Amino acid sequence: ASGSEENDVVVIGGGPGGYVAAIKAAQLGLKTTCIEKRGTLGGTCLNVGCIPSKALLHSSHLYHEAKHTFGNHGVKLSSVEVDLPAMMAQKDKAVSNLTKGIEGLFKKNKVNYVKGYGKLISPSEVSVDTQEGENTVVKGKNIIIATGSDVKSLPGISIDEKRIVSSTGALALSEIPKKLVVIGAGYIGLEMGSVWGRLGSEITVVEFGPDIVPTMDGEIRKQFQRSLEKQGMKFVLKTKVVGVDTSGNGVKLTLEPAAGGNPTTFEADAVLVSAGRTPFTSALGLDNIGVEIDKAGRILVNERFATNVPGVYAIGDVIPGPMLAHKAEEDGVACVEFIAGKVGHVDYDKVPGVVYTHPEVAYVGKTEEQVKALGIDYCVGKFPFLANSRAKAIDDAEGLVKIVAEKETDKILGVHIMAPNAGELIHEAAIALQYDASSEDLARVCHAHPTLSEAVKEAAMATYDKPIHI
Ligand code: FAD
Repeated sequence: ASGSEENDVVVIGGGPGGYVAAIKAAQLGLKTTCIEKRGTLGGTCLNVGCIPSKALLHSSHLYHEAKHTFGNHGVKLSSVEVDLPAMMAQKDKAVSNLTKGIEGLFKKNKVNYVKGYGKLISPSEVSVDTQEGENTVVKGKNIIIATGSDVKSLPGISIDEKRIVSSTGALALSEIPKKLVVIGAGYIGLEMGSVWGRLGSEITVVEFGPDIVPTMDGEIRKQFQRSLEKQGMKFVLKTKVVGVDTSGNGVKLTLEPAAGGNPTTFEADAVLVSAGRTPFTSALGLDNIGVEIDKAGRILVNERFATNVPGVYAIGDVIPGPMLAHKAEEDGVACVEFIAGKVGHVDYDKVPGVVYTHPEVAYVGKTEEQVKALGIDYCVGKFPFLANSRAKAIDDAEGLVKIVAEKETDKILGVHIMAPNAGELIHEAAIALQYDASSEDLARVCHAHPTLSEAVKEAAMATYDKPIHI
């Protein structure tokens, strides 16, 4: 059905970049086909990324709360146990409901869905090996590559998804490892480390660099690391894993200082490799049509998401930029708007980042270090959740809001929040940044009481003047 007729838009990949682009294209009246090899829509994010990790973060948080904090609220339980298969089943249910939901959205918007592996054979033709074992050619005036990214391994470490797992394996362990080593202190490692730490694993995070989550504001990062350490997570920074031996019962890791030096060994029951992701372009036929990529394998595009080959576009994790689902979605909408002759827009300076641990850390705009490096005169305003009435009422008052604003104009340049629900709180800051608000603008907005959001208002007051409640 898809093959013979020419489409206006053909999207390769049904992740957050691809499926959103396909729906938007159809909404703009373009005849659209989306090709996905996985068998389900939603890409990395829905199947093995954002969604299952948030499901497990929530379930493990509930267990942890039941065990450690319910008593403080006068809720007595005689025993609390983990039922891991049930926890995994809840996660699987969330994933399958959401991926099926996207199939429903495709039907509603009349996006044609082809299940199979797509390969470019010309700038307007994609050969698809379908799930049914057939081959078909899908034609399109415009082709959008949205093939996303894949797990990156490390030299000397081969992922078997049993004892040496990627994030995908870490989302589906069949038992709780006693000792889990996490390689890489990025947000994926810290989130999955939190899940298994809450369920009882001893977590050691080994990181090559000097810092955890390097994109985070330094001051927030220090407090965040301390909070994770209080929860039992151990950090071994400036260290590289140079080998893993799985010949015995557990895993024996060989570690070396990042700068070189004597190796040491470390034993664990399982290892999570979360040292980054790599763009996925294998067997895509990029060579067939001469699409340019950079040294990291990312497809190069201009500000209209066009590659060097006319009619071929790329979006999401497969192009440079933050590897985040919401960024991929923004790319998808803007790319299709350009194709439809409209104007698309993505402001990469204002893409929020969130680490969904407890407390969460969320940020948008520039860190204090970045502002300093740019030589901008700035003011900082901070407000701790210890002085926020809602956080105190619910006995969950770790963290702070930090605002960095330009001194001369008071324009907000960056907002950094560590708090329960920071991932939700960050969006008023995102709006403020998008509309070039000053800290005074934000402070003069009436915020409901008692809410965690009042800490954002107070931090804004502290930026240009004084807060009330501290
Ligand atoms: P993908 O989601 O990778 O989708 C690409 C799709 O293309 C895949 O389904 C693939 O099967 C398909 N495909 C590839 N090649 C072909 C081909 N030749 N033919 C047909 N189909 C093909 N981001 C966030 O913003 N928030 C989070 O909380 C978050 N948590 C994460 C947790 C984990 C554990 C991981 C691994 C990632 C997480 N991410 C998160 C990142 C997020 O998943 C990605 O940024 C996002 O999925 C990128 O979207 P995409 O559409 O570019 O690519």
